[in-house]
Amino acid sequence: MEINKCAHKAKCDFYGCKNLAEYSFTTKGIIKRDLCFCGECLNGMYQAIAKMQTPKGTTSKFKLNKKLRREND
Ligand SMILES: [Zn+2]
Repeated sequence: MEINKCAHKAKCDFYGCKNLAEYSFTTKGIIKRDLCFCGECLNGMYQAIAKMQTPKGTTSKFKLNKKLRREND
């Protein structure tokens, strides 16, 4: 899967969005056709994904504890 600059003039595929598509999301056959979307919608998607992926605090805390323990030895 990759995101490319949208080569052809198309409307953003997001429902209710009337902007011209700036990017296209290529899945190589996973979905019927490339998904086209504008910069605004890309940003919205990015923020939604970032929200989903934030809870990584547990692993970094674990690493920190390990480091602290090593320093005490
Ligand atoms: Zn859009």
